[in-house]
Formats: sequence, C-alpha cells, structure tokens
Amino acid sequence: MQTSVVGYPRIGANRELKFASEKYFKGEISENDLFAVAKTLRLSHIRSQKEAGVDFIPSNDFSFYDGLLDTAVLCGIVPKRYRQLGLSDIDTYFAMARGYQGEKGDVKALAMKKWFNTNYHYIVPEIEDDTKISLSGTKVFDEYNEAAEDGTETKPVIIGAYTLLSLCRYTGSKKREDFLDAVIGTYKAIIEKLENRGAKWIQFDEPYLVRDLSDADKEFLTKLYQGILADKDNVKVLIQTYYGDVRDVYEILTGLPVDGIGLDFIEGKQTANLIEKYGFPKDKLLFAGLVNGKNIWRNQYSKTLEILDGVKNKGINAVLSTSCSLLHVPYTLSAEEKLSEECRKHFAFAIEKLTELRELARLAEIADRESVDAYLANAALFDAKRDCEDEAVQRRLAEIKESDYVRLPERKEREKIQKDAFKLPKFPTTTIGSFPQTGDVKKNRSAFRKGEITEEQYKQFNREKIERAIRWQEEIGLDVLVHGEYERNDMVEYFGESLSGYLFTEKAWVQSYGTRCLKPPIIWGDVSRKNPITVEWSVYAQSLTDKPVKGMLTGPVTIFNWSFPREDISIRDSMTQIALAIRDEVLDLEKNGIRIIQIDEAALREKLPLRKSDWYSEYLDFAIPAFRLVHSGVKPETQIHTHMCYSEFTDIIPAIDNMDADVITFEASRSDLLILDALKECNFETEAGPGVYDIHSPRVPSVDEIVTALRKMREKLDDDKLWVNPDCGLKTRGEEETKPSLINLVQAARIIRNEA
Ligand code: GLN
Ligand code: ZN
Repeated sequence: MQTSVVGYPRIGANRELKFASEKYFKGEISENDLFAVAKTLRLSHIRSQKEAGVDFIPSNDFSFYDGLLDTAVLCGIVPKRYRQLGLSDIDTYFAMARGYQGEKGDVKALAMKKWFNTNYHYIVPEIEDDTKISLSGTKVFDEYNEAAEDGTETKPVIIGAYTLLSLCRYTGSKKREDFLDAVIGTYKAIIEKLENRGAKWIQFDEPYLVRDLSDADKEFLTKLYQGILADKDNVKVLIQTYYGDVRDVYEILTGLPVDGIGLDFIEGKQTANLIEKYGFPKDKLLFAGLVNGKNIWRNQYSKTLEILDGVKNKGINAVLSTSCSLLHVPYTLSAEEKLSEECRKHFAFAIEKLTELRELARLAEIADRESVDAYLANAALFDAKRDCEDEAVQRRLAEIKESDYVRLPERKEREKIQKDAFKLPKFPTTTIGSFPQTGDVKKNRSAFRKGEITEEQYKQFNREKIERAIRWQEEIGLDVLVHGEYERNDMVEYFGESLSGYLFTEKAWVQSYGTRCLKPPIIWGDVSRKNPITVEWSVYAQSLTDKPVKGMLTGPVTIFNWSFPREDISIRDSMTQIALAIRDEVLDLEKNGIRIIQIDEAALREKLPLRKSDWYSEYLDFAIPAFRLVHSGVKPETQIHTHMCYSEFTDIIPAIDNMDADVITFEASRSDLLILDALKECNFETEAGPGVYDIHSPRVPSVDEIVTALRKMREKLDDDKLWVNPDCGLKTRGEEETKPSLINLVQAARIIRNEA
C-alpha cells in the first residue's frame, strides 16, 4: 500500500523560517538570505519524507506566510492598494500579510482568520470587481522543479478553486459566479504547466467541502471542476478534503473526472458510512486519511487496520494518508529531552507519524500481523493502562450542581452595582492584557529557566517591569490597567504549568500565523490546580495604583482548545475539569482584592463544529457552561471581562451573551464592522469593546482613524456599553509602536467623550 502526506510543517524544526523572516522584516538580512533559508528547509522536509518512504510527498506546501495567500497571488488576486506600492514581489506579499508603513505608503494588512477549526490563521484574499484572475506567479512550479532537481518527484499542492473562491472576500458587487471562467482558465493553466514540467499528480486542497453546502454551492462546485478538468491529459488530480466529512458532495466528488479523492477518517464522522452507502469508484484512488494530522497521540494500529481492511475488501484502491496537513503538529519527539519514556511512547509528532504511515502500510498487506513486532508493540501500548486518573477530580466533577453554572444576581442588576463601585468615565479605556515581550523580558525568563538567576532576581525584574507599565498607563490616562503579563510565555502553557495532569514540551512548536508559533501543552490526565497561578503578580500590580488593575486569566475553553487533547475522555469532561481549576484561581484573585477579572476565551470559536447542526450539541452546550462555571462564584461587584480574538461570532451571539460576562473585548478593526449590526439586532447585553485598531501589524493608528472607528461603533452600541481598547494583547508588538498607539487611543476616547 502506498502512503501520502497532505502537507508538512514548514517553519523549521528550530523555527528557522520564523527567525529568518523576522530578521528580514527588520532589514537585517537580504531577500536572498531569506530565500536561501527557505530552500534549505524545503529540501530538508522533502528529504525526510523521502527517507521515511512516503510515496506521495507534497511540494509547494511551504509558505513564507500562508498557503491561501500564496494561491491568491498565484492567481493574480492582489488588491490594487498593494500593487501600487511598487514593492518587490516578496515585499508586496508581506505587505498583504502584515501591512506596510514606510517610504512607499501606508497600507493595512488584509484580514486574518482562523483556518477552519484549527488555530492556524489564514490571510483573507480580497477580490475587487476589476480583479483579473489569471496565472500570475511561479511559486508552485519553482518548488516542484526544485524538488525534482534534488531528485524527488513530488505532488504539488495548491488550495483548490472552490475553497479559494469561498474564502476570499469580495469588495465590490461581483460574486464568485462572476469569476468562474477566469478561475477555470487559471487552474487549467496551472495544471497544464505542471504537466509540462513532468508532474504526475497534483493535489487541490478543498477543506471547504466538509462544511454545510447548499444546492447552489453544489452546482457551482460541479461547474467549477467540470471546467477545470475538462481537457486534462495525463497528469493526475487529487482533490484533498480534511477536517470533516463531505456528506453534502460525496456523490458529486466521486462522479468528477478526478484520479484521487482524499477523505478524512479522523474528523469525518460519516466518511466510512458514505463509502459504505455510495461505494467508491474503482478507477480512482482513495487517499484514506487515517493518521491524525492534528493530534499527537500514537495511532492505534488495530483500529486503523480494521478500517483499511474494510476498504480493501470492497475492492477500493487505497493510499494510506494523513488526515490533514501535518502543519498542526510539531516536528519530532526526538527533540524532547525531558519527556519521560513512560509518556513519550504514547506520542507521535510529524516525523514519527511518517513511521506510522510506513508501518501501517506494510501491515495492511500482511495477514499474520501478530508476527510483526511493530504491531505487537502498538497493541501492547493500547492494552496497558495509562497512569492518568485522579479520583478527587472525578468526584468533584460528579458533584457539580446546575446552580454552579449560574451567577447571581442577574447581569442588569450587577451592572448598576458595578457602575457605582468603579465610577469609570464613559467609554472606558483599557488594553487586552499583555505588553510587548521585549528581548529583556524573554531573556529574564529564559535565564531563570536555565537556573542562571534566582527566583527572587527573576521576580524582581518582573516587578520592575510591572511598576513601569503601571506608571506609564497612569501617565497616558488609561482607565482600567493591566499588569502586562511579563511572566507568561504564552496564555496556555503558563497556566498549564500550574495544573496537574498537564505535560510540556521543549521544542514542540506549531505555527499559528506567519512567524508566530505556539507550543501547545498536552493534556495527559485529569486536571486540577496545583497552586495559585497569577495572584502574586496581580496583587502586586494592584498595590501600585488606585485605578483598577484587571486580573488576567485564560478561560477553560481556550486552555482546552490550545492544548493537545486526550482521546480517552470526552471534551466535555476535560473542559469542565479545567473550568474547576480556573474557578479556584478566580475566587483566589477576588479574595485578594482584585475587582476586575478578565477570563480570556481567545479560542472559543476555534473548535466550533464546521457544520451548524453540530454547533450546540457537540460544543456550545458544554463550552458556554464551562465558562460560567469559572466565574459564577464571584460577588456582584466583581466585574468579569472576557476577550476573544475575532469578531466572527455573528451567528452565535446569544451563546456569547450566555457566557454571562459583564464586558467583552474582541477584534473588529481588521474586518468590517458587520458584527456591530448583529449585536444591535440581537440586543446584546454584555458591555463591549470592539477593538479600535489592529495589533497584528506594526503600524500606528492615527487619532482620526480611531475616532472614526468609535463613531461607527456608537451608531450601533449604547454609549454606556461601549469600551475603548485595541483588538488583542500587545505582546507581539514593539514598544516603539505600542506607546504612540495607546496615546492615540486615549486621545480618541477623550474626543468621543466630548461628542457624547
Ligand atoms: N490577555 C491576553 C493578552 O493580552 C490575550 C491574548 C489573546 O487574546 N490571544 O496577551
Ligand atoms: Zn486576542
């Protein structure tokens, strides 16, 4: 049996691409230096897959920022405002991804959104009415050639036309239908060119097909692919889907003149049923996504082989594949020096998954599996009991009552009590929590970790940072202050370290967007809080000022969603365990005099099922209560804030209101302000701070710009419910741009107060 990898991580095992890109952005290295690093990475990734015996190795899965943006550029989808800057190709590309502020102009970045149900973010391409979609780039051809010259035949990958057109934003009056012919022509040209270069297979990624699709969508999909594939010659085309099953279009897909269809058996709950019900054409290859591309647990061979056997017994020609790109898992377990043998044997990162692919493909061909060591070892691993249970946690979980999910008195009443207690001005100003994690902050933390400085030295440094931050926030006149989060590497790992049941890695980085990587911790067992986590820092910060300082926590849904989850207990139970742990911290903060507590749910939307019919029953029905469980025990005068890093919650506004927070801040500046209409329509009760500027880009927003944004917000939100804040934490920013930005923000709030 042959094997296939949908996509490979690209940032580098030691985040080489991140560091090179950041140097390039600062002007410290040249374009050619950056390109050289990229080439080395690409070749090394392809070589390791080749060594592991993978048959279908992807190329063009590499990206300097994002694969959807690459595909847009390949198709000539570059808005005028970026082309007009007159920058080099790569700088035009980075201007779209990150914004540009310099000699040649001042342009914001394109919007950025979460990629399906993952924590990877894509750049939203924009199609203008006069956009001429046509083959305009060479990246996919160059990278195919590069691998070929290195001696490896690869399967070039681009985002498929349907997913591309579905994720683009249309800025004018035209719709996807108006671009049908142009897109068909472009994809045909891509196929032809790849074929001329000698490519045998091309992979079109079509994750959009796992969503709910209407009749109009289906018709469009059919037209699109009938057009694209119309006079394809020898080169073979694989339509690769992932993150779910294709129940709405299974019959359409299997009826298309494609040569391979990639289906996800891990997240695709109905994949096996679909094959059972409708069969699978004998003249096509089924790329069976059975090795989980998203999680880091070992594959259970017996289960996987059972499915493969079933497929083979139906006479289907199958290739064993990863369920999605390996972009979502770290490179290799071998970089982890501190994980115990007892734990590590349960995991497989990208490289180890390549071994699983090979072993499984071999086992699939063998009848007497019990005679193969790899099979026996895997069976033994899953037969043995893993040491991961905590009776006390399970008892506490069982004892939760309905009333534990309800905060009293009701929000309206609390609002009055809090307005009296805090006496904040109208349009109160605040930030989301973190301040720039400058070199000295990171150095201090790493010196402490390495044992080069004492705990007292480490803390003293952070206290000085906090004091400086508090003074400075007072000086510029912010109303609700933060301590700056200097003690945290990131918002999940930091909490996980104080939770029992969690495991940590040293180098298990996963790309979140562009150069930003995260190191998701692993939920190994039952979770509880070991010790107070943030209390000392918050209490210290509050002791320095009379203004309220927000306590700053990460909520249970986000902690869960940004961890690698267990596969042996339900999401509901796992999330509820974390909620109880964070509840302990909330009550501790309150007891110690912290009067405003922000519980970040940056990732709440991330795991919202891709199909609407599953939203409540498979997610919101327990995720929202988990959040309420965290704060239901506080006094009425304690103000609970939450924060989300996106504004696409238009369709779940009632659920967000149901979290029963007093205030919510969220991203709004990088997308249009549609969310405000929806909030108004739904009579959203929670006070709201839609971000007034974009923190993902280094540009400094002007006072005017912020005033304009606030005026628009005032049209939709009541004055006494509107907060003024950036759209996310400032940890990834430099101090140079942060201070002027916040000075402008406070200035803008003052202007608006005078208008109100
Ligand atoms: N409080 C966090 C911060 O400011 C929130 C981060 C986030 O939403 N991703 O960094
Ligand atoms: Zn955020």
